[in-house]
Amino acid sequence: MTFAIELSGLTKRYADQVALAGVDLTVENGAFCVLLGPSGCGKSTLLRAVAGLEPPTSGAIRLGGKPVADVAHGVHVAPGMRDLGMVFQSYALWPHKTVRDNIAWPLKIAGVGKAERRARLAEVAEMLDIAPYLARYPAELSGGQQQRVAIARSIAPKPSLLLFDEPLSNLDTQLRVEMRAELLKLHSKTGATIVYVTHDQVEAMTMATQIVVMNAGRIEQNGSTASILSDPQTAFVAGFVGNPPANLFALRRNGTGWTLGDQAIALQSLPAQHETVRAMVRPSRIGLSDQPGERRLQARFVEALPFGAQHFIQLESNVGRITVLVDDWQARDHGSALYVELPLQPDAVFDADGARLT
Ligand code: ADP
Repeated sequence: MTFAIELSGLTKRYADQVALAGVDLTVENGAFCVLLGPSGCGKSTLLRAVAGLEPPTSGAIRLGGKPVADVAHGVHVAPGMRDLGMVFQSYALWPHKTVRDNIAWPLKIAGVGKAERRARLAEVAEMLDIAPYLARYPAELSGGQQQRVAIARSIAPKPSLLLFDEPLSNLDTQLRVEMRAELLKLHSKTGATIVYVTHDQVEAMTMATQIVVMNAGRIEQNGSTASILSDPQTAFVAGFVGNPPANLFALRRNGTGWTLGDQAIALQSLPAQHETVRAMVRPSRIGLSDQPGERRLQARFVEALPFGAQHFIQLESNVGRITVLVDDWQARDHGSALYVELPLQPDAVFDADGARLT
């Protein structure tokens, strides 16, 4: 099978900073692949390496089966020869060219004839709803309109791969929601493979067919939205995705039992060969009570956030923040004492390095 993208051992170092630490990844043709992770985890560096804007320190990149970068063999194909389009957060339009020329310029450079240039311009202007602005300059457009022009420019040459680096971050919430729907339409109309960088998980989960969760220059997990949410493979993913994310409790072995903070706690399914583990428990599986009891931990109320007919309750405890989802909630004072009750079986268990155990 030919993949749209194949990365093997992709590494990028800047002086003492490792931006990508040996990334292996495949993206299927026609995928909408979202790179999701906190700021500084290497998303943009990965995208820029695929685009050819950032030469890797080591490793190889194949696009559509063709090597475009291979450090060991001295291969580096120029960005313009990689059959891809790129859209940045900052739009990056030429300020002294009209919208028409901004879109048509890359076609002209590529040697596309005048008649075809005109046809493509009309086609993408219609697709992105910018036909009335073709004679304007970028400064005469709103942020949303400028980003439409940048997208139109990237798709005009009909690349088989489109790279988006946080393209909606500068837009207001309403516009972001609209643009997400339009990007999905664009994806199905063009049939292009899309790689989309964001730190916003709602954006990721509403658009992706494949989510790649990154942290510290590595891939933590790669899969469908459903698998990332329901079956996190690392403690990082468990604590990062979900709104709010699941709770992680650090447990320490104490003889044949386990302690959480300074309290003995009887949980099942904890692996015998480990001294410390992290147990994941979803907010919906934790109970709240006014009384102490078995598997109950003392906590203090911080805030209640309505969630439909339910409430997410934030608490502080001597083992950190705890989030609980409850059906019924009576208002309380900030700092009032409550007990959280953990279920017998955690939802997942990770080792001290964050790797999934059960
Ligand atoms: P993200 O897109 O996930 O926010 P980046 O890919 O931009 O992360 O950055 C990854 C890491 O590499 C960060 O620690 C960042 O500071 C570093 N980095 C990125 N570009 C450069 C550069 N040109 N010079 C030095 N360090 C860089």
